[in-house]
Amino acid sequence: MNGVVVVLGRQGAGKGTQCGLLQDRYDGVAHVSTGDMLRDAAASGTPLGAHAEAIMATGDLVPDDVMCDVVAERLAALDRSGVTVLLDGFPRTPAQAEALAGMTAPDGLLGAVLLEVDVREVSERMQARGRGDDTAEGIARRLELYETQTAPLVDWFAERGLLRRINGTGEPAEVFDRLATAIGGLVPLRLSR
Ligand code: ADP
Repeated sequence: MNGVVVVLGRQGAGKGTQCGLLQDRYDGVAHVSTGDMLRDAAASGTPLGAHAEAIMATGDLVPDDVMCDVVAERLAALDRSGVTVLLDGFPRTPAQAEALAGMTAPDGLLGAVLLEVDVREVSERMQARGRGDDTAEGIARRLELYETQTAPLVDWFAERGLLRRINGTGEPAEVFDRLATAIGGLVPLRLSR
């Protein structure tokens, strides 16, 4: 593996959409979304999925030890590939950030890009999207956990000189260009053919 770029931002900021586009547009970029992994596990009825499903429905966080194992396993599976991982949805707590630093040491944590969109806009986007956990209560709970658990990670990355901030509002194509430019400053990007 070439390294990990963390994609940070509120729920509904467009992380999943933009990471999918980046994976399509550039060679050697792998989008790893913990939310997608948990939803896949729930759909396949694995023990992890059964455990995560009820938690996700309320908008609460799956316990750190479970998430750290899930991510460590996925990164280990990609270890021998040359890919750059775009990590979406992890870390979400300080303990997860410390665990990620351990998993990627000494030089695999390339940086973090923060997709900035305000609370009002992400709430509207999630209401329009209407995923299973996008109920009024689920959205409120997830945004509350973002502020208390995940927002402190912005400073955690900034203090380590790893943070880049990106305006996540405007046309999706503009956001894509901003994101690609920021990530391109961390790792060389090659257009896929
Ligand atoms: P969103 O960012 O809109 O909440 P995700 O797909 O990233 O959507 O996550 C959906 C749910 O999956 C979360 O509400 C949480 O229950 C669970 N989840 C995903 N990633 C993590 C994580 N790193 N730690 C704990 N729970 C997680």
